[in-house]
Amino acid sequence: MRHFNVDRAPEGVDRDDWESHIWQMQHRVRGAEDLARYIDPTADELSAIEKLAETFRFVITPYYASLMERDNPDCPLRRQVVPVSEELWDGAGLADPLDEVAHSPVKNVIRVYPDRIAFCVNNECALYCRFCLRKRMVGEPEWTMQKRELGEALDWIARTPEIRDVLLTGGDPLVYTDDRLDWLIGRLREIPHVEIVRLGTRLPVTLPYRVTDALCEMLKRHHPIWVNTHFNHPKEITPASIAACEKLVNAGIPVGNQTVLLKGINDDPATMKQLNEALVAMRVRPYYCYQAQLLDGTAHFRVRIEDGIELFRELRGRTSGFAIPQYVLDTPHGKVPITHQTSLGRDGDDYVVEAWDGEIWREPNP
Ligand SMILES: *Cc1c(COP(=O)(O)O)cnc(C)c1O
Ligand code: SF4
Repeated sequence: MRHFNVDRAPEGVDRDDWESHIWQMQHRVRGAEDLARYIDPTADELSAIEKLAETFRFVITPYYASLMERDNPDCPLRRQVVPVSEELWDGAGLADPLDEVAHSPVKNVIRVYPDRIAFCVNNECALYCRFCLRKRMVGEPEWTMQKRELGEALDWIARTPEIRDVLLTGGDPLVYTDDRLDWLIGRLREIPHVEIVRLGTRLPVTLPYRVTDALCEMLKRHHPIWVNTHFNHPKEITPASIAACEKLVNAGIPVGNQTVLLKGINDDPATMKQLNEALVAMRVRPYYCYQAQLLDGTAHFRVRIEDGIELFRELRGRTSGFAIPQYVLDTPHGKVPITHQTSLGRDGDDYVVEAWDGEIWREPNP
C-alpha cells in the first residue's frame, strides 16, 4: 500500500470551497501573511518575498501550499514555489535563454521545428515556479493575449500548412475557462492541416480540482488531444492529482509528464525513480526531463549536465523502460537528448555496445 501526501484545508475552510478551482484561484497565497497559514516562513524566505515582489510574481494555490512541510525549509515542494535569497544572486543568467522572441513569427508563437509550434496562449499560471523558463513573460501584463492577438496567431497557423502539431502552453492554458478553451481548440480544429493539439499544463499538479468532468467532456469532443503535465517530486502525487490525471486518461487523452531536474529536489536516482514509477502507476507516461536553463536567479537549482547523465544512466535497467523520461537540453535549435554513450562503435566486423549492467556486448555486424 502506497502512502500519498494529502492536501488539507486550513481550519474553517469548507471542503466544497476547497475543492472548487474557482475558490482556489481566488484565495491564492500572495504574501507573507497568507503563507503563514501553511508554513512558518524563515527570515530568508520573508526577505526574498519582499525583495522579489517587483521581479517575479509570488503566488501559490492553497492546494499546493497545503502540501508543503510547515517547518522544513528544504521541503521539495516549498523550494519550488517559495523564493529564497539565492534567487537574487544573478550569476550568468539570461532572460530568454532559448531566444524564443527571435523564433516567433507572430506574437507568442514559437517555432523551432518545421512541423510544430509552441503557442503561448496566455501568461497566467495557478502558481509561479521559481525556476520557470518563461519567467520573462509569465505573470507579466505586457504578455497578456488579447482575443485579437489570438486571432492573429490562428491566422498565421491557418496559412502555414506545414504545421501539423500545435502545443498550447503559456503560462497555462487550463487557466482559461472551459468556454474560451473550447473556442480556441475549435478554431484550431477548423484548420485542416492541424492534426494534433497538445496542452502543456501544470494544473493537474498545482490545482488538480481544475480537471473537472465538464473539462474532460469538452476536450474529448476535440480529439486527438494530448496533455503533458509537470510533476517534479513524488510528494506532488496526491489522491487529488491522481484523480485529475485519471480523469484525463479516462477521457482518452494520453497524458505525459515533463520534469525539470532540480538540485536538492529531484536530482538523486531514488527520488527520480520513485516519481516516475508513481507516474506510471497512475498511467502518466514520463516524457522529458529537462536540464534546468541558465536563467536569471535559478543558479541554485541547476545540476551539472554530467551529473544528470549519470543519474539517468543509473535508472536504465533498474525500472520499467517507459518509467524513464528522456533527459534533454532545450536549446534555441530545439531539444537535444543527452545520454550516457552506450554505442561504442564499430570494431572490425562487430558493433560494440555497453549494456545497463556495464557489460560490453559485441554484436556481429559485418
Ligand atoms: C518542446 C517544443 C515543441 C515540442 O517538441 P516535442 O519534442 O515534439 O515534444 C515544439 N515547439 C517548441 C518551441 C518546443 O519548445
Ligand atoms: S507552471 Fe510552468 S509556465 Fe507556469 S510558472 Fe511553473 S514552470 Fe512556469
